[in-house]
Amino acid sequence: MWPFGRKDGSGSIPRLLAAGRTDVGRVRAGNEDSYKVLSGEKSPVGIDALLVVADGMGGHAAGEVASRMAVEGIVGLITGSDDLPSVEGQGYLRFLGGIVQQVNGAVFQASQDEDKRGMGTTCTVAVVRGDQLYVSHVGDSRAYLLRAGSLHQITQDHSWVEEQVALGLLGREEARAHPNRNIITRAVGLEQKVEVDGYLVSLADKDILLLCSDGLTTMIEDSQIESILSEHGPAEACRALISAANCQGGHDNVTVAVARVTGGPSSAPLPASPHPDADTVEIARSPSVWRKFSRSVLRR
Ligand code: CA
Repeated sequence: MWPFGRKDGSGSIPRLLAAGRTDVGRVRAGNEDSYKVLSGEKSPVGIDALLVVADGMGGHAAGEVASRMAVEGIVGLITGSDDLPSVEGQGYLRFLGGIVQQVNGAVFQASQDEDKRGMGTTCTVAVVRGDQLYVSHVGDSRAYLLRAGSLHQITQDHSWVEEQVALGLLGREEARAHPNRNIITRAVGLEQKVEVDGYLVSLADKDILLLCSDGLTTMIEDSQIESILSEHGPAEACRALISAANCQGGHDNVTVAVARVTGGPSSAPLPASPHPDADTVEIARSPSVWRKFSRSVLRR
């Protein structure tokens, strides 16, 4: 592992450039997505970059509250954890999953208010420490890695269409446009506990990381994401991705966060096709939870 900002063995100076952007889209009245990108000097102690994307649900005010609570909660808890920089690998992944659990509990508590009942949010968190990328994930926002011009999806969607694809009942392209594409099967804040997926990825020189809400991936194809990320730096890529989603109709709020690695190892193993490495807490999804999901999703 090499720290960013210092010379590695090859003499290059590893750096990380990151940017984020959100847009209401062309159809919705309000934006229920939230995000945060902290890199360079703004990064919490012991971290080279922190990116969070959350897509809230549960009706106007509540969805906005849930996604904002998730993002602010995660940033606050990670910033307040200066005593843990020595934990690496699966240990750090479990720490990050535990933070998502804490935020889940807080959103669930807040959702006991009558006007916020059923609110919840997707939550995808990426932490870069040296050449290690840690991702904690719940819902159907996504993390992608662009390496050597090819786009790889890191996270697996917790959605109805994803389950149908896994069962071989729906093709990838059909899933993207399916009327049920908004139904998610896991979210932060709907139950006292949530199952959190964790992914650990080794980063290499020129890697580009993308986090996004489904307002991007239901509007444009992976091939278009791939070419935009290949052609632009992080800030310009964020603008171009949002503009591409809006050009296709902008049916949903769109949020993107992009980070580009410069320097460090020239190669690293590719992330396997979406498959969680570590989970923190497993709960069975009960019929009552499913009804809750369906209700909240209808209001998305
Ligand atoms: Ca959305």
